[in-house]
Amino acid sequence: MNLALEQLNLDNSYARLGEPFGSRLSPTPFAAPTRLVSFNPAVAQLLDLDPSQAQRPEMIRYLSGQSPWPGSDPVAMCYSGHQFGHYVPQLGDGRAILLTEVRNQRGEKWDLQLKGSGLTPYSRQGDGRAVLRSTIREYLCSEAMHGLGIPTTRALCILASDEEVYRESIESGAMLLRVAPSHIRFGSFEIHYYREQHDALRTLADYVITQHYPQFADHPQQYHALLREVVVRTARLIAQWQAVGFAHGVMNTDNMSILGLTLDYGPFGFMQSFEPGYICNHSDHTGRYAFDQQPSIGLWNLSCLAQALTPLVSVDEAKQCLADYEPVFVSHYYELMRRKLGFNTLDESAVTLINDFLALLQQDACDYTLTFRAMSQFNSSAQADNTSLRDRFISRLEFDRWAERYSARLRQENSNDADRALAMNAVNPKYILRNHLAQIAIDKASKHKDYNEIDRLLTLLQRPFDDQPEFDNYAAEPPDWAQHIEVSCSS
Ligand code: AMP
Ligand code: MG
Repeated sequence: MNLALEQLNLDNSYARLGEPFGSRLSPTPFAAPTRLVSFNPAVAQLLDLDPSQAQRPEMIRYLSGQSPWPGSDPVAMCYSGHQFGHYVPQLGDGRAILLTEVRNQRGEKWDLQLKGSGLTPYSRQGDGRAVLRSTIREYLCSEAMHGLGIPTTRALCILASDEEVYRESIESGAMLLRVAPSHIRFGSFEIHYYREQHDALRTLADYVITQHYPQFADHPQQYHALLREVVVRTARLIAQWQAVGFAHGVMNTDNMSILGLTLDYGPFGFMQSFEPGYICNHSDHTGRYAFDQQPSIGLWNLSCLAQALTPLVSVDEAKQCLADYEPVFVSHYYELMRRKLGFNTLDESAVTLINDFLALLQQDACDYTLTFRAMSQFNSSAQADNTSLRDRFISRLEFDRWAERYSARLRQENSNDADRALAMNAVNPKYILRNHLAQIAIDKASKHKDYNEIDRLLTLLQRPFDDQPEFDNYAAEPPDWAQHIEVSCSS
């Protein structure tokens, strides 16, 4: 289907829930002229939207709030959440508005959420705006995560203006049109629990089940089933983050999706030199959200959700659900790591080989992505020397000892090197969104209004596992200047 904007099948199911769940209001358009920076045709397709609509001035007018979008019922969503371990009773969309929902021909529902859309009742001290820099990072990273097969929100487009936005320095304002089946968070439930609005809590849980988990609608213990499913999805999501080396940076409960999506990209980072304690967020002084803390923080956040649902599920049921987290996480993580090293089966000796390989990467500060990608070239015949792989390590003797065990294991599995190389290249990405790649696109866009690099990265990262020889330099280790890029919460 290739529809015009006016022909999209709009729904406003969340807005219809009414008052306790948000505040109806329209976006505040930029005072300065607004232009389209980048448009993602792959997301247009999800909405049945004809990509040529991007050329129409009406698109910018509707999506940036300059003209009311006929049939939409915009609403800022209300939520609370635990930030860095502390409960904050009132958060909410402080700079975003759910414009409307689109139901496509396949029956899927997609939220269209405009981020950077001006002040809302939940803006607190903020200005309601987002800067072009952070908008580009979120736009590219969400598409990169999708390309990696990791559940995530996505984005249709970036709109920008010359309106000044004040952060550490003056930056230009931008808006991101975010697209996801839902933007409901753990914090969307917490707010009603702490306000003792148990009817609202039930209404929201029923809404989430009807819209997103219809398989539980007739379940005798539907809220228990819902919580268990969120536990499982979150465990699997974080296993995927760990396997690909993604650090979210701000895993507050208001940034945790009820659908198990990666949500709210801020100071995220992809692991480069392997360092389990990697902290991507420059403002996270205690390392609460360090890379290796993410699995346990996932559980901590789920326990906040479980507590918020205790008016609907018994404490015993909540505990049972939480008890599923660790086994689901561990088994999914090692399953992903099994594939990354190309083993046919997972047993204790494979797990030891995986852990010992990670220890080697850490000890020698090897690039996580590039080393795993290179491992597809491993020759498992008894006398092979694997020199080019060996040269990636400082402790070559330790690599040799590990490689001997790895090689023996592969031969024992009757592993075929060519087949294994193909399978490994399908799970070990060649391209990730390194900070310096995003930074180059940001600099070109902010200094010269040159947006080509954004589109180039978008296309590249949609196929991170494919060799794209024209982009070989995008798969290189970061240049020296990249060490000085600091990513904070400011966005
Ligand atoms: P975050 O850390 O980006 O997830 O944001 C936490 C909370 O602060 C959310 O409720 C946001 O809507 C709000 N917020 C962040 N930046 C701004 C801003 N510039 N203006 C208003 N609210 C903001
Ligand atoms: Mg957030």
